[in-house]
Order: sequence, then structure tokens, then C-alpha cells
Amino acid sequence: MASISLRNVVKRYGHGPKANQVIHGVNAEIRDGEFVVIVGPSGCGKSTLLRMVAGLEEISGGEIAIGERVVNNIEPAERDIAMVFQNYALYPHMTVFENMAYGLKIKKVPEAEIKARVDKAAKILELGGLLDRTPRQLSGGQRQRVAMGRAIVRKPQVFLFDEPLSNLDAKLRAHTRLEIQKLHRELGVTSLFVTHDQVEAMTLAQRMIVMNGGHMEQIGTPEEVYARP
Ligand code: ADP
Ligand code: ADP
Repeated sequence: MASISLRNVVKRYGHGPKANQVIHGVNAEIRDGEFVVIVGPSGCGKSTLLRMVAGLEEISGGEIAIGERVVNNIEPAERDIAMVFQNYALYPHMTVFENMAYGLKIKKVPEAEIKARVDKAAKILELGGLLDRTPRQLSGGQRQRVAMGRAIVRKPQVFLFDEPLSNLDAKLRAHTRLEIQKLHRELGVTSLFVTHDQVEAMTLAQRMIVMNGGHMEQIGTPEEVYARP
């Protein structure tokens, strides 16, 4: 587990006079083990902020630290993070087990260790009976749980969620939201979760960051954020 520090973080797309600044000096400290939700309307910069933490976007100004380590120039694979996306992008020809094991195989984790980690993740996510299936044989909610399983088995210091519930119908969304809460209770991994859905944000967040037009408008518990006039 690790804290995440955003220190005067700036993002510009493009260069020179045509550059478009979309993140304007965001400062925030996400504590070790905390679940923080970034919420705000479409286009306000949520994804960009998350992708900079992940290392998928260059940081134009300021710095981001994961734990003690400034990660501005650290490759995504070296950041000790795992990201769960909206479109879960599972490998269609692989089984659930193989999908979850794939990243570990590449890292040359021993077979027995891979099996132990996948079994544990499958138990937490109630995927035990589905390990031999392919993604085509799963529901949308089950696929999203496999995508989460793939993140868990890597034992990252930080989980990043980019609107992971948006493609699910209302019932599944509620169910998967509970799964994510349970996951955080059991593993306590520092989590940054992006959504444009205020209800989702309120129910999941220990603290929330409210973004608007590339600025951080508020940071606080849901009670603090919604108590303000
Ligand atoms: P959100 O996740 O809140 O919907 P984004 O972070 O996706 O917002 O986008 C923030 C702003 O940055 C938007 O104005 C968007 O058009 C712009 N933007 C996002 N990605 C790019 C990109 N690759 N190139 C140029 N502009 C981008
Ligand atoms: P979302 O709102 O779910 O984040 P978008 O449709 O805004 O998704 O963006 C999808 C992809 O397009 C992202 O990779 C984003 O970086 C890129 N993108 C968004 N806005 C722009 C833009 N103005 N110019 C170039 N790429 C963009």
C-alpha cells in the first residue's frame, strides 16, 4: 500500500500557442489505504488525472508521487499500480484462469504462486466455478469481476478504476459496486476511482475530489462535500 501525492499537477495537450491546458494545478494527498473517488462532469479532466497517475499520459507540470517515489519519469509497468477500465478488454481466446494469470506469467512468477494468487482472487470475487470458461461464456458483471481479479493478483500498491461500472446495467452496477467495497475492506489497497455518477461517488468514497473544468473544486468526505452551500 502507498499514498498518492498530487503536487500542483498540470496537463496540457499539444504544444506552443495551440496547447490546450486541461488540468490546472491540482494538489491532493491520498492516504495509505484510502478509497478516494474523483467525480465531475464529462470532460473535466478525471480520466486525464488518473491516466497521469498510471503513467499513460505525460505530466506537463508539477509532480506525482506514489509513496515516497516521484513517478513522473517512471514507466507504467514500474509503478506498482493496477488499473481497471470501463471496457474490461479480456483476452477472448483465454480462459478466466489464463486471463488472470497472464500478467504474472510474463513476470515469471512461479506456477504454484500464480495458482495460489488466482485461487484467492477467485474466492474473493466469487469466480471459483468459472475459471475454465472463456469471456464469451460470462455475463458483463462476471467479466468485470475477472478484470478486477487480474488487477488483484498483481498485488499492486495502488488500484486505479476508470469508470469500471459504466457499461453495466443498473442491477449489476449496484452489485459490482458492493464487490468493490468488499474488495477494499478485505485488501485495504489505496484506491483512486473515477466516475461521473454522483451516487456512485457518494456511496463508494471515503473522500471525494470534485473536479470542474480541470480545477479541483473540493476535496472531502461525501458529508463535507454535500454539506457546503
Ligand atoms: P473526463 O475523464 O472528465 O471526461 P478527460 O480527462 O477525458 O475528461 O478530458 C479532459 C479534457 O481533455 C477534455 O477537454 C478532452 O477533450 C481533452 N482531452 C482528453 N484526451 C485528450 C487527448 N488525447 N488529446 C487532446 N485532448 C484531450
Ligand atoms: P471518456 O469520456 O470515457 O474518458 P472519451 O470519449 O472522452 O472517453 O475519450 C476516449 C479517448 O479519446 C481517450 O483516450 C482520450 O484521451 C481521447 N480523447 C478525448 N478527447 C480528445 C481530444 N479532444 N483529442 C484527442 N483525443 C481525445
